[in-house]
Amino acid sequence: MDSLSIARRLFLKRLARYGCTAALLTGGGRVLAGTKAALNDIRISQPSEQHTRIVFDLSSNIEYKLFSLSNPPRVVVDLKRTRKSSALIVSNKKTNLMRDLRSANKSSGDLRVVFDLKSKAMPSSFSLQPDGKSGHRLVVDLHSKNLSPKPIKTSQKQDHKSKKEYLIAVDAGHGGRDPGAVGKKGTREKDITLAVAKKIRILINRTPGYKAILTRDSDRYIALRNRVKVARNNQADLFLSIHANSFRSSKVEGGSVYALSLRGASSEEAKLVAEKENASDLFGRISLDDKDDMLASVLLNLSQTAAIQDSLELGSLVLKQMGKVSKLNNSKVQQAGFAVLKAPDMSSILIETAFLSNPKEERKLRSSKHQQKLATAIFSGIKVHLKNRQV
Ligand SMILES: [Zn+2]
Repeated sequence: MDSLSIARRLFLKRLARYGCTAALLTGGGRVLAGTKAALNDIRISQPSEQHTRIVFDLSSNIEYKLFSLSNPPRVVVDLKRTRKSSALIVSNKKTNLMRDLRSANKSSGDLRVVFDLKSKAMPSSFSLQPDGKSGHRLVVDLHSKNLSPKPIKTSQKQDHKSKKEYLIAVDAGHGGRDPGAVGKKGTREKDITLAVAKKIRILINRTPGYKAILTRDSDRYIALRNRVKVARNNQADLFLSIHANSFRSSKVEGGSVYALSLRGASSEEAKLVAEKENASDLFGRISLDDKDDMLASVLLNLSQTAAIQDSLELGSLVLKQMGKVSKLNNSKVQQAGFAVLKAPDMSSILIETAFLSNPKEERKLRSSKHQQKLATAIFSGIKVHLKNRQV
């Protein structure tokens, strides 16, 4: 059982509970190659104030993908190899939860349907086979996230839950068979990142209104994409990936913060760091070229600008706080194509705490006291950022 990573266990738990939130789903059968299914009708109903149901009437069984995006909140369903019937007109697209419904053909031959939401909603879905009058159907349910069932017993815990709580995913870089950078004294990046991540978790969980999840809390290997999955499936507000840098010159020093770039690296150095951190997946023998189809299409089709903008703001606040406790290698947030920052709907930053290749910094990184200082600085930056966001 140990082979099941925390990431996967959380993921499966989530799947079991909600059916399919943000997961990649496939319907029961496949459409024959070369042919396309027709979407004949979209029926929208509102079984209750907290529940919107969208039924897609289809000419055949299809594969599909369902996922959520935020800023603004929306749910996307990609219907594989499907075209819209020319007769299809959806008149009333507004419900308690939904502002609008849009659709567009993708170059891949898929049909993308986007539900624009009034606020975050939990999506789930299932397929139905023809029976009697009805043909093939795909049913998507949206449930309001705010209106959870009223507690029968009032306990403090539930009172606390009703308030907005920020969920912060903290990712300790590397782990297991992937040690990350190794210092002259043999200090392994994976151990430092875990120690700092755990200290951040304590600080976060101690603060009312904040909660932390770790992508790993032991020395184990987790593929980069699964790290992001843990955060997404828990609907984290922020994602932080903690690392320690290395360079061939032992003189190079200082911390840096990185955000995702869609257009290439902001500097040669940022590119090198991204290549080094992305290489982590080679330990899992998963090629990064086999890009997650969903991610690739999201990156192409939907603007990630808002998430990146927010990540840059978060990053500069974290950097500012880090500058109070350690040297900085870069005073500005750098950008590059980090695999671990590619969640399209979450502000995500990667923090290189210092250089393990620098003996002075290696010593500091090994010190629990310095780790604590770093953790405190990073969390301070996060708090300022989230306070700024509350308008
Ligand atoms: Zn690293």
